[in-house]
Formats: sequence, C-alpha cells, structure tokens
Amino acid sequence: RKCLQRIRETHYLNAYISVTEELAMQQAEEAELRLLRGEPRGILDGVPFSVKDNFCTQGVETTCASLMLKGYTPPFNATVVQKLLDQGAVLLGKTNLDEFAMGSGSTDSSFGPVRNPWSEAVTGGRSSMELGSDWAIAGGSSGGSAAAVASLSCYLSLGSDTGGSTRNPGALCGVVALKPTYGVLSRHGLIPLVNSMDVPGILTRRVCDAAIVLDILRGPDERDSTTVPSPALDCALTEELDLTRITVGIPQEYHAPGLSPETARQWERVAAALAAAGARVREVSLPHTQHSIVCYHVLCCSEVASNMARFDGLEYGHRSSVETSTDALYAATRHEGFNDVVRRRILAGNYFLLKQNYERYFVKAQQVRRLIADDFSRVFCSGVDVLLTPTTLCDAPTYTHFTQEDNRTRSTQEDVFTQPVNMAGLPAVSVPVALSARGLPISLQLIGSKMQDKKLLSVAHWLE
Ligand code: GLN
Repeated sequence: RKCLQRIRETHYLNAYISVTEELAMQQAEEAELRLLRGEPRGILDGVPFSVKDNFCTQGVETTCASLMLKGYTPPFNATVVQKLLDQGAVLLGKTNLDEFAMGSGSTDSSFGPVRNPWSEAVTGGRSSMELGSDWAIAGGSSGGSAAAVASLSCYLSLGSDTGGSTRNPGALCGVVALKPTYGVLSRHGLIPLVNSMDVPGILTRRVCDAAIVLDILRGPDERDSTTVPSPALDCALTEELDLTRITVGIPQEYHAPGLSPETARQWERVAAALAAAGARVREVSLPHTQHSIVCYHVLCCSEVASNMARFDGLEYGHRSSVETSTDALYAATRHEGFNDVVRRRILAGNYFLLKQNYERYFVKAQQVRRLIADDFSRVFCSGVDVLLTPTTLCDAPTYTHFTQEDNRTRSTQEDVFTQPVNMAGLPAVSVPVALSARGLPISLQLIGSKMQDKKLLSVAHWLE
C-alpha cells in the first residue's frame, strides 16, 4: 500500500506506464497470509517490484512505449518476470522507457519523458512540475525503472541493457544497476532490440539486493538457447572481501573527450581508495575502444531492421485503417506506429544490410566487435580482476539541454563507457559514489570478466 501511495505521490516523474493496483493488492494479501502462517513462498515473498514495459507480462498491456504496441496484451510472462512471481514478489506496474529501448534519456517515449527524482536539486527545490522543461532527465532507456527505485515506489525493478540502458539511468538516478554476463539471464519475453547484446538488467538500492535478485533469476531456460548455467552466488555477499588479492584496471582510453572534471575526480578518488585499502590498481589499455560506438551503431541498426519486421499491423498491436493493399497497410501501420528514432534505425539497418553494403558495414563491424572483445580478454588474462570506469560522462543533463537538436547526435556519446561491455558480453555494474555540485548523483562502473558476476558484485559491495 505504501508503494502504491508513493507511485501516486510521484506521478509527475512519469516513471510508470501502467500500474497494476488491483492485481498487486491481491498478490500482496496472499503473500501476507503466507508470511503470517510462516510459510513464505521464497526470499522475495511480498516484495513489490516493477518491470520495464518491454518485458511481456501475462494479461498486462506491454507497449515498449510505442504506439505500435498499443493494446498488445501478451498471453505469457517473460521468464525473469515469472521467476520473481514464483518467489511471491508483487508486480506493481510497468515502467516507462525510450520507444523500443532505443535511447539513453527516456525522453523518446510515446507516453512522455521520465523525470529524474533528484530534479529538485537542479530546480532549486521548486517543484519540477511547475518549471516546464527545466528538469534533469532520468537517463535511459530504462529511465522509468531507475526513477521508480530511486523514488522509493518499489524495491527492485527489471530493466534491459543493450548498450547501457540499465547502467545509464541507474547512474543518473543514483541507484545500483547490474548488467549480468550475457546468457546468465533468459531473454525469453524481453522484446528484442539487439539479440546478440540484450540482457535483462537489475536495478536496486543496494548491491546486496542486486545479488539476491541475480541469484533468483539466473539459470538456463529452454526457451532461450543462448542461456548458460552459471555458478551460485552467495546472496548476502557476506564474506569479507580480501582486497589485497584484487587487481583493478583503469582503462586509459576511458579518459574520453566530454568527461566532466567532477566525474573524473570521483574516478580518481575511488581508485585511490581501492589502492589505499590494499588493492593493486594499474593502468591498462583497450586500444579498440575508439571504434566501439560506430561499430555498435552498425550492428544495432542491422539487428533492429530485422527485429522490427514483425510489426506489420497484422499480428500485434496497432493496425492502420489504410486498406488499399497489404503493402499499403504495412507501410501506413509502420509509419503511424514507430517514432522517428525507430524509423531512422530501420532505414539505416536496411542500408547496412543491402547486398552491396553487407561486407563493408555489417561484416566489418562484426570483425571489429571481435577485436573489442579480445581487448577485454587480454586485460583479464593479464591478471586484472575488475575494471573501474565512469558510467556516464557527467551527471544528468537537463531536458532542454539533452533534447537540443545538435545534442541528439551527441547523445549516442552517452553510451561511450557502457556499450563496449555489451559487445563483449561481459558483466558490469554501476554504483553511485557521490553527488555533484548540482546535487545530482555521480556513479562509477565496474566491469568483470565473463561469468565473474559474483566477484564483480563483491567489489561493488565494497564501494558502497
Ligand atoms: N542508448 C543505446 C541505444 O540507443 C542503448 C540502448 C539500450 O541499451 N537498450 O541503442
């Protein structure tokens, strides 16, 4: 009830697309009875959670924040959602995002932008509602999930992370955001953006909570052939971490143009704190980093062009009233249903995949992707346990600044520290470490080697 009340109080954040109040109350009452009987269904029995609106939820509309999926109600739950429900966790609602998870601001949703709960700091304590467009963005694309956790309307939220979409909003909203190793969590029921990079992400207030959720969600799924078995985690991360056995790498290429002096200072401060506590901290090189963002763009658009083909007006959601021919129906539906970001990516992807361009763009990008992944492997094989980097270039920009036309191309730069991790399938976690002079969260990212999610979380736990 308190969480539902909190959702109402923070309505102006626009964090939720739908709130499943009736269902939530029913689930909560059942959980309460189980707890009174001393028979909890699982460790999360009765714990309220929310889910990004690109995960399928049985009987609950799933829109991807797009007009294209308006009215689409899936007949099944995504595996990760089902696993939380099986533990007794209570679904409160579906959270807002950039349409089809394409973006890094949660400003491109057909339901309107998400506001950062820390916005009051930017607006000098005045209600951000009254100030029109002068408020801080939540980051994206899982901005609704991050804002929901940060504004205390739920204890955990599921996001998705293809190029940084869980870590970016987690960083800007000051919550813990985990992107597990590719294949540890099932993608079944997560509406795909880039199948080879998508992973469900976990947003919580504390690292130990993220570890508990990861432990519950992990494991092979016969409905997702890319899932693999993964080792159990010590949920509570109770063991004292012996930092003298940990080597932390600082990738020199991450001193990127546009990195704010404040964020750079926090990065140095935390590296020094790790060294002072006994960790070996050394500079490392990931030489192909500079090519990563372009390469991500080519691969993302190519997979988008293919993935979005299923939205034709016949099977799911929106259908245009233009019925002069089947082709005209397809075209009109897609024109009406997708925003310009999605349409642009479909066009670019189809261009990259043209017979005469395929080798030059798609195949080339795949080759560079391999080099990027090899850079990481080389560093981890040389004895580095985790890498420490910023998550974002700076604290949350204001809506006006972020959506200025000349900043829109720059906004892909927002993913500069996060997307190489998706190209390589590695685990990474963003942890808030300070507040900026504007009173907004600054976060750092830890990157681990494949399947080393537990070690990653142990170091992150130390950072908290
Ligand atoms: N901002 C990136 C993009 O627009 C990442 C999106 C994501 O991780 N879903 O593609």
